Amino acid sequence: MSLTDIKTRLTETATLHGRDPDDIHLIAVSKVQLLERVEAVLQQGHRVFGENRVQEAQGKWPDFKSRFDGIELHLIGPLQTNKARAAMELFDVIHTVDRPKLTRTIARIAEETGTCPDIFVQVNTGDEDQKAGVSPDEVDALVAECRSLNLPLKGLMCIPPVNEAPSLHFALLAKIAARNDLTGLSMGMSSDFDEAIAQGATHVRVGSAIFGARSYA
Ligand SMILES: *Cc1c(COP(=O)(O)O)cnc(C)c1O
Repeated sequence: MSLTDIKTRLTETATLHGRDPDDIHLIAVSKVQLLERVEAVLQQGHRVFGENRVQEAQGKWPDFKSRFDGIELHLIGPLQTNKARAAMELFDVIHTVDRPKLTRTIARIAEETGTCPDIFVQVNTGDEDQKAGVSPDEVDALVAECRSLNLPLKGLMCIPPVNEAPSLHFALLAKIAARNDLTGLSMGMSSDFDEAIAQGATHVRVGSAIFGARSYA
């Protein structure tokens, strides 16, 4: 599929579920993709991109940012505290805040620099041992901590377990967000963004459906 196809599908799905397509942000996930493919999508006018590694993003986005106006970058992969400063310099939104130590580090740097990216708290909705994200039992406390530190908290993010119906996880994330008065929902990828939109997604993270399969060299 192409960027245009995905946008059309996003609009159709939103309309079908009584949602305003403008309320749904399409994050083009460009990790590992050839720079020519990323540039082609920039040439088509798209400006919202997602990366999952700070270092990889540092290697490509300063150059693109110098050549294209209005780029908005989203960090969607795990963040180590020692990379927080670099991430905060490059990214406009961080989707993967998942522990108190990281919230405190971000708050300290934000206070020092006077600016902070928008924040999403990542929730490990399937309580999977190997997966990042705060467990559903602890998310309310982490949200409260973000608020007490005055972080610009916009919503919640999840990556459902591979072998389960994603809809149940999207619904759970929406429920946790509602009880915490949060409106942002970062959920849905190439294979399941329709279902995520049906469940209220405000940010869908779509990679291979836009750029083609990722080839890991
Ligand atoms: C890679 C990635 C995506 C995009 O996955 P696709 O299946 O290529 O759409 C979305 N979210 C996260 C967190 C990712 O790491």
